[in-house]
Amino acid sequence: MPLRVQPVKMRADNTAWLFQDEATGATAFVDPADAAPAIAAVEAAGGRLDLILLTHHHDDHVGGALALKARTGAAILGNAADAHRLPPLDRPVQPGDRIPFGAAGAEVIDTPGHTRGHIAYFLADGPALACGDTLFSLGIGRLFEGTPEEMFESLGRFGGFPDATLVCCGHNYTASNARFALTVDPENADLVTRAAEVREAGARGELSVPSTLGQERATNPFLRAGTAEALGRLRREKDEFKG
Ligand SMILES: [Zn+2]
Repeated sequence: MPLRVQPVKMRADNTAWLFQDEATGATAFVDPADAAPAIAAVEAAGGRLDLILLTHHHDDHVGGALALKARTGAAILGNAADAHRLPPLDRPVQPGDRIPFGAAGAEVIDTPGHTRGHIAYFLADGPALACGDTLFSLGIGRLFEGTPEEMFESLGRFGGFPDATLVCCGHNYTASNARFALTVDPENADLVTRAAEVREAGARGELSVPSTLGQERATNPFLRAGTAEALGRLRREKDEFKG
């Protein structure tokens, strides 16, 4: 795999991501909630940082961006449409843009639902999908600013990506998501197996991300919902879930 993909734990359950192109050494960091763990991860990977990629404006995704830039000289990229509520952008981007990075670059995907200006980045070299708070392992983000229809369409934009795509999501909510998913789809053997693996990983203190899109297609009830209405119903049930 020409792309090195590394989760970087932040705050209670945030996962930021370090992507390093092994051929050139080019490095990108996704969603630095805080600068200190981001800087430590960059230094452990050789000290070079080219790009800071932001998925959306929430503080637990952008809080460390300016300090990380000050330390490394990396350029900050984010959605031009949300520039007014993001840290100052060196390169405003738009859905459909291809950002130069490694051989294949990073494609900007329009993913409103959690927030209006949310975007994701698809790196075909991984393949890896930095999807912020859109898709989680076994769940999705809350619909703070968008509708079930928007989230359904956003998730649909991942439909053409390969099963092997690493799902580099913004939080490790997998254990709680697994408990809810089992109430929705208790007969799903792949989900039962995955939920057991998630419990075991948690007991060892390990992250349960990244998963792959293939795993999510087999186990994630929100990706399997079929319609925006069904997705909205599941999201409301999950909002109430006390598992
Ligand atoms: Zn968020």
